[in-house]
Order: sequence, then structure tokens, then C-alpha cells
Amino acid sequence: MEQNIPQYKILLIGDSDVGKTSIVKRFSDDIFDEDLLCTIGVEYKVKTLKVDDKEVTFNIWDTAGQEKFRALISSYYRGAHGIILTYDVTKRETFKNLQYWLNEIETFSTRSNVVKLLVGNKIDKENREVTREEGLEFARSKAMLFIECSAKTKVGIQQAFEELAHKILETP
Ligand code: GDP
Ligand code: MG
Repeated sequence: MEQNIPQYKILLIGDSDVGKTSIVKRFSDDIFDEDLLCTIGVEYKVKTLKVDDKEVTFNIWDTAGQEKFRALISSYYRGAHGIILTYDVTKRETFKNLQYWLNEIETFSTRSNVVKLLVGNKIDKENREVTREEGLEFARSKAMLFIECSAKTKVGIQQAFEELAHKILETP
């Protein structure tokens, strides 16, 4: 019998170059590209994953330069179940800008119970500027899930999406 797999809309946001597209590509196609071209507009990927013996399908929306595509924003956020807020652990500026992205969520998200996951990416690199503790503390203060990862080495990627799915399933 054909099973009804629940579908969830997931967005990635955060400063440009933090690795949003790389995270999606690693998760959906298991590839990594050192010289990724800048994402233009919005792209999306569909991926089914299993959590607690249940299958869920994620429709993952990846974007770039929302500043230049303001008109797209409200449709981008509309109905999202989960938001992955990404920064680069080697660029403090991208961590400082998280509050800007939280304000965007506040303004545009249509669900009050949208699940937020904070992701510190590029932990494979030597020149870290933001500690794990700082990320964890900020996530805690804003009621977000938290994980550090590397799209390059894969560490944390699968776990990030699984934790998000898990939380979405337990959120009414
Ligand atoms: P986006 O603008 O947020 O979508 O960022 P991209 O996915 O386009 O990545 C920007 C640059 O960072 C690209 O050159 C990627 O190859 C690189 N990058 C992304 N994730 C990682 C990572 O985990 N480790 C390292 N070393 N480089 C990464
Ligand atoms: Mg991109």
C-alpha cells in the first residue's frame, strides 16, 4: 500500500558564503564543491529521510541575496516548518549578523511554532573565530537547536537534518 509521507518545508538562511548551498548539496547529493558558484534566486531540493522509523520528506529551499530579491521573501518564508540559520565559525561577522536573520524570521514567518536550528559551518578550517560554546549559548538564548558541521568533511550534516526532523515531528 502506498504510504503517505508527510512533507515539510525547510529553509536555509544566513549571510552569503557561509555554506548554505554546500550544506544542502552535501545532504541531498553527498557532494562538495570548493568553487561553488553563487546561488542566484531560489533553488530547492527534495529529500526523504527516516527519523524514529518514520519517513518524512523535506522540501529544502536554498536562496541567495535576499536583499536583491526582496519580492521573493514572503513566499520563501510562507508555511516553512523548519529554518536552518547558518553562520561560518571562521567569520565572526556572520555570527554577529544572526540577530538580523532572526528579525527576518520574526517578520516573515507565518508559523509561530516554526522550528529553528542554528548551524555553525566550516569547522574543518583552522582559523576559527567563534567557539562552540558561544554558538551553543546564543542558540539557547533564542530557543534554537544547535549543531556545528562541515559541508566539506560531512561531519554533522546528516545529524543536523535528523535533529530538525525529529523536533518538527514533535512540534504541534
Ligand atoms: P552560500 O553562499 O551560503 O550558499 O555558501 P556556499 O555553499 O556557496 O559556500 C561558499 C564557499 O565556502 C564555497 O567556496 C564553498 O566551497 C565553501 N564551503 C562551504 N562549506 C564549507 C565547509 O564546511 N568547509 C570549507 N572549508 N569550505 C566550505
Ligand atoms: Mg548559496
